[in-house]
Amino acid sequence: MTQCSTEQRPTIVSRHLTSDGLVVWTRCACGRLRMDLVPDGPGGSRLTAGPCPHVPS
Ligand SMILES: [Zn+2]
Repeated sequence: MTQCSTEQRPTIVSRHLTSDGLVVWTRCACGRLRMDLVPDGPGGSRLTAGPCPHVPS
């Protein structure tokens, strides 16, 4: 099993624009998928789902 570390940067799988903002999918070195929602404009709150427990965000 591959272990990830802070020295390995996650790979961007895909990024696309939605009505809520920019959604970025990244895959960690250990294979874990993570989703980030970057809101479009002020007022929105940034959302992160499935962050890898090995890598501090
Ligand atoms: Zn990881």
